[in-house]
Amino acid sequence: MLRAESITLTYDGVTPVHALTDIDLTVGYGERIALIGPSGAGKSSLLNVLGLLEVPSAGEYWVDGQPTASASEKTRAQLRSSTFGFIFQAFHLLDRRSVLENVKLGLFFTEVPQREWNDRAAQALESVGLTHRMHTPARLLSGGERQRAAIARAVVHSPSVLMADEPTGNLDSRNSARVLELLAALHRDGGAQVIVTHDEDVAAQMDRAIVVFDGAVRCEPAH
Ligand code: ADP
Ligand code: ADP
Repeated sequence: MLRAESITLTYDGVTPVHALTDIDLTVGYGERIALIGPSGAGKSSLLNVLGLLEVPSAGEYWVDGQPTASASEKTRAQLRSSTFGFIFQAFHLLDRRSVLENVKLGLFFTEVPQREWNDRAAQALESVGLTHRMHTPARLLSGGERQRAAIARAVVHSPSVLMADEPTGNLDSRNSARVLELLAALHRDGGAQVIVTHDEDVAAQMDRAIVVFDGAVRCEPAH
């Protein structure tokens, strides 16, 4: 479903940073993958390339067979919003907006007709157990609730690939466990999940853990 070949990512600047070097990687339909490795190794950079948030400096990257490296930004943006859902460690909610409005934002750049937004958002909130908080301003949510609202926003357009960058990084163990359960429950048949994590409990639940080290994929231990 996702295939990267000889991907390199260099951040331009006074001193260019070679974040990823010559990465080969495939993610199959239905697979759940953990990206692990030390801080600064390139995990987030790799996730961002895989999620079409960063354009690789060299190499090719296919999403569902479609080459993306030299695609236009418009094509990449369409493919990004139709294929991927994103969850981050910092939840990125709009504090003054209601939980429902926050989740509806996940539909803004998709093809889902606007008349369906309310129902879709309400369904997503039900799937994460937040129906009772629908009309609450996001700033009033607890930490665990914030991440669940962010998850609802990430899955509201039914993406085939769910990307998560340290989704349990800001949560206590009880809320982490709940988020893990949710990620497992939200895994779609034939879809994929790619999760950056420091948490060994999270990695252990995935089909495969990929070690990122010094901008390279060092090994792919079988599960
Ligand atoms: P990880 O997620 O494993 O901690 P990152 O992908 O965040 O690693 O970072 C890999 C390297 O790229 C680090 O040296 C980091 O400082 C650098 N880096 C990340 N993002 C940027 C950026 N936007 N501009 C410049 N350098 C960056
Ligand atoms: P956190 O997710 O930060 O640990 P809690 O799980 O303690 O916070 O509570 C999250 C929200 O769920 C709160 O708004 C609380 O009112 C509500 N809540 C907690 N337990 C129940 C319950 N058994 N039934 C209904 N609502 C609950």
